[in-house]
Amino acid sequence: MNTPNPLPEQSILVEYQKRQRRHWAICASVYFCVLICGKAEESPVEAVAAGVWMLACIPFILVNWRCPKCDAYLGRCFHRRFCPKCGVQLEV
Ligand SMILES: [Zn+2]
Repeated sequence: MNTPNPLPEQSILVEYQKRQRRHWAICASVYFCVLICGKAEESPVEAVAAGVWMLACIPFILVNWRCPKCDAYLGRCFHRRFCPKCGVQLEV
């Protein structure tokens, strides 16, 4: 997944913000799925659907939450000022 990306610095910041919004949205959906799974005895069908959704989110997170410049995975945090691999600035 290491593809050279000639994005200029401003484009890297914009692309990072897009990826960060998607990351927040998908993590929020996973959070609600965890809540639904907590009530599995009351609504087992919804709990199974929530579990399937959470599993489907894993590859999306692994693909989305990457540095726009070097494609390195950005880890478990929600904010990265700099890429841990290439050091490009991601947040102002
Ligand atoms: Zn990077």
